[in-house]
Amino acid sequence: MNYLWSKNIEKSFLANIYLGIFKWDMVKAFPEQSASEKEIGDKFCERIDQILNENVKKEDIEDTGMLPARYLKLITEEGFTRLQLPKEYDGHELSHYNTFRILQTAIRNCFPAGFTLATHNAFGAGSILSALPEGYLKDYISEELRNGGFSGWADTEPTGAANRLVSTTATLCEDGEHYIINGRKVYIANGSIADILIVSTTVTKEDGTDEGCLFIVDTKNQGFSVDKVHDLMGLRGFPIAALNFNNVKVHKNKMVSMKEGHWRDTFLLEPISALGRMFSLTSASLAVSKKCLTWMKDFCNRKKINGISLGEYEEIQRKISQTAAEIFAMESVIKWGIINIDFENLADRWWELFSTKNITTLFANHIADRTIAVFGAEGYEKAQSKKEIGYSAIELEQVFRDIRGLRISGGVDFQIDNRSTQLWLEAFYYNSDFDIDVVKNNFGVAEEIVKEAQNLSSLNKEHLIKVNDEVVKLGNHIKYLVKSFDKEELFAKQRIMILTNKIVREIYLISCCLSRTNAANKELANDYNMLTETYCIDSLQKIQSYWHQLDCELQQENKNPFNILGNRILDGDLDTIVLENI
Ligand SMILES: Cc1cc2nc3c(=O)[nH]c(=O)nc-3n(C[C@H](O)[C@H](O)[C@H](O)COP(=O)(O)OP(=O)(O)OC[C@H]3O[C@@H](n4cnc5c(N)ncnc54)[C@H](O)[C@@H]3O)c2cc1C
Repeated sequence: MNYLWSKNIEKSFLANIYLGIFKWDMVKAFPEQSASEKEIGDKFCERIDQILNENVKKEDIEDTGMLPARYLKLITEEGFTRLQLPKEYDGHELSHYNTFRILQTAIRNCFPAGFTLATHNAFGAGSILSALPEGYLKDYISEELRNGGFSGWADTEPTGAANRLVSTTATLCEDGEHYIINGRKVYIANGSIADILIVSTTVTKEDGTDEGCLFIVDTKNQGFSVDKVHDLMGLRGFPIAALNFNNVKVHKNKMVSMKEGHWRDTFLLEPISALGRMFSLTSASLAVSKKCLTWMKDFCNRKKINGISLGEYEEIQRKISQTAAEIFAMESVIKWGIINIDFENLADRWWELFSTKNITTLFANHIADRTIAVFGAEGYEKAQSKKEIGYSAIELEQVFRDIRGLRISGGVDFQIDNRSTQLWLEAFYYNSDFDIDVVKNNFGVAEEIVKEAQNLSSLNKEHLIKVNDEVVKLGNHIKYLVKSFDKEELFAKQRIMILTNKIVREIYLISCCLSRTNAANKELANDYNMLTETYCIDSLQKIQSYWHQLDCELQQENKNPFNILGNRILDGDLDTIVLENI
């Protein structure tokens, strides 16, 4: 993260939120996909569904832990592995939104099969093409993909993905032409089927400085090996593997060139990685959430308790409506995030896309958990076993296991919230000459905005006024933090960082729901208003609870009992009290 981001602030709705400025103008023109673009996407969605229906049996994948070879062959032959590649490389040049829709359709049909395809399009070597200059490497990757190659991004190592510099090294040979790569990567999606991989390495320069560099590695190269395919809690059949790089020789023209000392600091690679999370983690989250709501709806309509349909009980209705409102909210940030966005203006949406990973994966996990609760014991039983006793053989238990991994992939959720606030503070306060006093007390200014928001119900107009006030409160909170603590002191207060970002996430969600509803046509406006009202009520309650927690945290100063107790437990001081059997 570097100063470049601070130059981008004007273009980011979310960045302005951190500043306490609610830019309704930036969000109010809610985008919808054009009919012609939708028609193109529809055809691909239909076809991928057909390929999956005809060639993939979920039970077989659960049994064998393998994806059918015919499925992998068909998706490469028909270019589903080249959804965004230029036509000259047999790609389909699809928009971000159509790409998202196709991957969501595939995952909804069969999670591991669809997720493999999503990972390839999201994090495969093709994903970084727009960040590469014209020339050899770009042509090489495109050609490999045209020839049917599968791909992934190998970053995580046994030492932990959170380390800024990886332990895998790339050392320049004496010939000055090649690098030798040594190291081990773990949990690499598509690692066991990949033909080419993006591999993160540390390169030590002549002056002794370390740089974080990416290479494109051909898995046929000598010294590369798949150590093992991980057997995960879920996602059975997903080709995720531990990989060894033992003196793998790579020509220097396979190194991704960059001016900065670390690939994470380059202008486009982080936004591309955030977009990749949308294509894989977010599309999976939306697919699963919709599946769960469908299952809940069927179950509640057929099940009776004490002669009364389950769907007539108040708490059940609440669970259903909350799920529907969360799906609507997820879709609102997805649509606002990627419709009409291309690689040219992708960086403008970096904050929003980065934030969407946590928003959607957490919702999907809560929704899957809620669905199990509604189903009772039936929700906890495996599909085959349910079939044997005559229940509907839905794979809810499997989905529950599958979806948990998405809160880890691409970064563990709490750590993403923590880093989000830190990154923002670094970019705008600590690494720039930004004037914190720009934060003003613009409470109530949304009363003017509301006059233009013709389509909103009166309750949603109130929500619009409230969300502006929450944004202003947030700006003042950040102002207080940066004036009260220096960077190290503040960043050590991780719970404060996390809670702050949770508020930002909710504000973003509310804003997109309100904008989408206000922009809706007359036919949809009533239903959209209802979904938005429901979401906002829930969300504003969450925000109040986060403020309360923040107040408590700030009052604790350095005597926070959680930290004191945590340290003592790790030191073993309380073992007899908390660890011994009673
Ligand atoms: C389904 C799935 C698919 C994946 N696909 C890929 C892939 O394609 N490519 C790839 O490279 N990786 C992949 N991963 C790995 C994934 O990105 C990492 O597991 C994730 O980023 C977390 O890193 P880690 O497991 O190494 O945890 P670590 O970095 O070892 O962290 C361990 C714990 O420490 C916490 N932690 C770390 N730093 C801090 C801190 N400063 N303060 C407080 N807590 C901290 C973490 O949140 C975590 O809870 C995948 C993982 C899964 C589950």
